[in-house]
Amino acid sequence: MTQTAAALTENRVPADLPARIQHYIDGEFVDSVDGDTFDVLDPVTNETYVQAAAGKQADIDRAVAAARRAFTEGPWPQMLPRERSRVLHRIADIVESRDSRLAALESFDSGLPITQALGQARRAAENFRFFADLIVAQADDTFKVPGRQINYVNRKPIGVAGLITPWNTPFMLESWKLGPALATGNTVVLKPAEFTPLSASLWAGIFEEAGLPQGVFNLVNGLGEDAGDALVKHPDVPLISFTGESRTGQIIFGNAAPFLKGLSMELGGKSPAVVFADADLDAAVDATIFGVFSLNGERCTAGSRILVQRDIYDEFVERYAAQAKRVVVGYPHDPATEVGSLVHPEHYDKVMSYIEIGKTEARLVAGGGRAKGFETGNFVAPTVFVDVKPEARIFQEEIFGPVVAITPFDTDEEALALANGVKYGLAAYVWTNDLKRAHNFAQAIDAGMVWLNSNNVRDLRTPFGGVKASGLGHEGGYRSIDFYTDQQAVHITLGKVHNPSFGKNEHHVTDVDDPDPR
Ligand code: NAD
Repeated sequence: MTQTAAALTENRVPADLPARIQHYIDGEFVDSVDGDTFDVLDPVTNETYVQAAAGKQADIDRAVAAARRAFTEGPWPQMLPRERSRVLHRIADIVESRDSRLAALESFDSGLPITQALGQARRAAENFRFFADLIVAQADDTFKVPGRQINYVNRKPIGVAGLITPWNTPFMLESWKLGPALATGNTVVLKPAEFTPLSASLWAGIFEEAGLPQGVFNLVNGLGEDAGDALVKHPDVPLISFTGESRTGQIIFGNAAPFLKGLSMELGGKSPAVVFADADLDAAVDATIFGVFSLNGERCTAGSRILVQRDIYDEFVERYAAQAKRVVVGYPHDPATEVGSLVHPEHYDKVMSYIEIGKTEARLVAGGGRAKGFETGNFVAPTVFVDVKPEARIFQEEIFGPVVAITPFDTDEEALALANGVKYGLAAYVWTNDLKRAHNFAQAIDAGMVWLNSNNVRDLRTPFGGVKASGLGHEGGYRSIDFYTDQQAVHITLGKVHNPSFGKNEHHVTDVDDPDPR
């Protein structure tokens, strides 16, 4: 049997795929008001495997009305944090108990390697558990003015949160927004990415089983310019949390402006990994391989530009290229697979076009096209370009696939200029054993998050977000709670009222006819 034929065996396709994907509004699965649907493709064959309801403004209107009702009539926003926390913990338990099934469906729909999809399913459970714990530990400020005043913060959920998510690690990224939005007592309308709607449709059953009240969670599938746009422009949605491309973020920013909505934007990246000559080379090679080829390279924090000090440049390039060639491209459901299939043929074409551009801009030392042995689907060989100039498009632009650009540098100053010389500023990775350099360099980088001698290992309490074109605002830990709540200041006088009295002088009458009242 050829590799392709083997892949098309039954165990590649999950047995219990749904017959269709619908919206979930006010506790019910429903079709679009106009009955419209869109095709969802299997990224290994690029054939349509299911149709999903294509939401438009009328569907968003219904979902927002349901979420609004659930917010104003309760009980969710009024419940004690402990009660909401219990529901969130149950959600985490259910997600954990179904991690294999979730991973199988996610891997099938998105092309992510199964082992990595499993890690993402567990991370999704952890996001719920984290915010379930955080909300019961939430303390709000009180300010004393001795003998005169006490002022306290009354933290309130805001209303209907609009959550718009991308297709890379869809289930996990949805949990990252759903966890804090729900923990704080808001109700939500989720608009997942149109390339990967499968795993999002599982939330409804999970939430029902965990006891989330009806109408608190609503899901509308559809294209960004239809369903996403209608959600952004809906007057009863005061908050939009968006993860996606920087260009889409700009459009949403503009569309939300007339409504003065609260916005959280997690956008694109072109993050540098900077390897100094004194670094632990074995660890640096391993980590920078993983940093760009894990999750198929479809990772916002991918270290997709590697800057290497010239003293070790040739050795690094040789080792890196050799190891990149050994990265296992395979079918997403195969546990041995390290790089699976890109999500969609449109995205495959985009990544391939960058590979062709790269061939005119730099020296190719690994990959450079379709992975061998895979005649169909969106399989790209891990691709390494070296001697990449900073003005090259493959150095400047987000490719979002298994493609890396390696560039040499001589001094710390040059490395910093290269690291900061792009429009993005999401993550950065620095490899050195010099303590002073590590901190000084890390602090000078234009990046929302820096890892020193480490891969992207996140502590959920830390701020998550980017600078420059990589984002607006921060979530993570208490910052997510802040985004999804209003902090009302309540001021109380203790004892005597300290108030200057106006209008107490009986002999004074204001001359209202003053012709020149300046
Ligand atoms: P995308 O911007 O194309 O789409 C993201 C979501 O926005 C989808 O649900 C889409 O339907 C919706 N959308 C599109 N146009 C819209 C509009 N006009 N109004 C409202 N919604 C609209 O992004 P993508 O291709 O799905 O995802 C990949 C991008 O996401 C990459 O740039 C990646 O770096 C970024 N990303 C960032 C982070 C982060 O945390 N910073 C995390 C993951 C992905």
